[in-house]
Amino acid sequence: PAKPIYAGELPPGLQRISSIVAVSSCKGGVGKSTVAVNLAYTLAGMGARVGIFDADVYGPSLPTMVSPENRLLEMNPETRTILPTEYLGVKLVSFGFAGQGRAIMRGPMVSGVISQLLTTAEWGELDYLIIDMPPGTGDIQLTLCQVVPLTAAVIVTTPQKLAFIDVAKGVRMFSKLKVPCVAVVENMCHFDADGKRYYPFGRGSGSQVVQQFGIPHLFDLPIRPTLSASGDSGIPEAVADPQGEVAKTFQDLGVCV
Ligand code: ADP
Repeated sequence: PAKPIYAGELPPGLQRISSIVAVSSCKGGVGKSTVAVNLAYTLAGMGARVGIFDADVYGPSLPTMVSPENRLLEMNPETRTILPTEYLGVKLVSFGFAGQGRAIMRGPMVSGVISQLLTTAEWGELDYLIIDMPPGTGDIQLTLCQVVPLTAAVIVTTPQKLAFIDVAKGVRMFSKLKVPCVAVVENMCHFDADGKRYYPFGRGSGSQVVQQFGIPHLFDLPIRPTLSASGDSGIPEAVADPQGEVAKTFQDLGVCV
């Protein structure tokens, strides 16, 4: 494996971050970005200084999920560092804010470019940097995990039995890197309609995950139209409804990371 560049000294822009938390999933579309963004805004709501790094080059979702006034990252010409943009006090870096350059990037360049964007950003003083990882556990993910010292990982999955194998892959990757997986979020676990609760993907695999992999915390997130609508509107649900059920789940998750 590549030598972590922080083995010597962490890049100056990252030296004043207390915790770097990876939010990871094996597949796309399970709600990883939804969890990353709502976790970040919940922590900010609890008084923490927070940044989000959206590491998805091909399908960055951060620009849809938040509404910063300035939608382009700026470069400090003297230090050649990148200045994150900001929305409601949370610092944001995403390829979606990088202008047109991202369109011409090819696969083999990706790990290097992600690492560069992450490590040349001037994050300033942060309590938490939340990294919305690209989906999967391949080379790009591994490199990214080695570029910065991760404090903790949160794995997002859906409740199918099959998702079990995915969680195992994620846990294995992070344990190789000696990063503790502090929580699994089972997203889209149920929905309520006509006074009844439905479990479209089955149930019960959650507690098995916790036992088998020794992960200390498991959180359920229901299917909620408001969660999807807020993701599309640019105002995360944790911001739009800070007293709601979703916000409460994220506060509990926030205490674990
Ligand atoms: P990923 O980052 O894993 O690709 P996203 O967070 O982008 O997944 O979620 C994929 C889509 O599903 C988005 O449109 C999002 O709003 C929606 N979504 C995620 N979780 C939920 C949920 N619990 N209830 C309703 N919609 C959800």
